[in-house]
Amino acid sequence: MMEQTMGKRLILLGAPGSGKGTWSKIISDGKGLPHIATGDLFRAELAAETPLGRKVKSFMDHGALVPDELTILLVEKALSDERAANGFVLDGFPRTIPQAEALTEFLEKCGQTIDMVINLIVDESGLIERTLSRLVCIKCGQPYNTMNMMPAVEGTCDYCGGDVVQRSDDTEETLRKRLEAYHASTAPLIDYYKERDLLVAFINDRPPNEEMRSRLFSMIDGVKGEA
Ligand SMILES: [Zn+2]
Repeated sequence: MMEQTMGKRLILLGAPGSGKGTWSKIISDGKGLPHIATGDLFRAELAAETPLGRKVKSFMDHGALVPDELTILLVEKALSDERAANGFVLDGFPRTIPQAEALTEFLEKCGQTIDMVINLIVDESGLIERTLSRLVCIKCGQPYNTMNMMPAVEGTCDYCGGDVVQRSDDTEETLRKRLEAYHASTAPLIDYYKERDLLVAFINDRPPNEEMRSRLFSMIDGVKGEA
């Protein structure tokens, strides 16, 4: 079942609600690459009550964005784990140019590079529909949605049995704000990776299906990873 992919280091970019979590998980499962999502990293540090976790919490408690330095530290920690030694799928990072530059520097120090940056393209009405339909496991972060990816038992995670709920910030108003923030800070990343010849576009215009999965996997297999 699992296809072997050596040394693929992938980043998924896309506006909020573009399907980054869903597609990261599909790639992670299909290619045997760890899925590194900043949301999960924050949750794990909070749960473990590490000094980093306490710092993250102090920002989140005040409704502030976790600053780049902290986010970078957490991602570098995850990338240093031996599970990420042969590749990974980064989801939700980098979000800003300083984060991208820190990532490039960190990987250079490890003698590694990013192999491909996948830019998920969706139209805005699709985005709103997708965002309002999405659900998440509050325990493990597994994404679901009411359109085509419901858990087998309604409200219960297939993987960990946690509660599957709609995120309280998944409203049309917060989505509009998130889109503005995305365009201000994350969209320049598209140029950053385009200049480095790493960017590929993936039109995510339908619910995930086998044809889209094969198309994406062919793109990923087409890049030369390190053995
Ligand atoms: Zn779960």
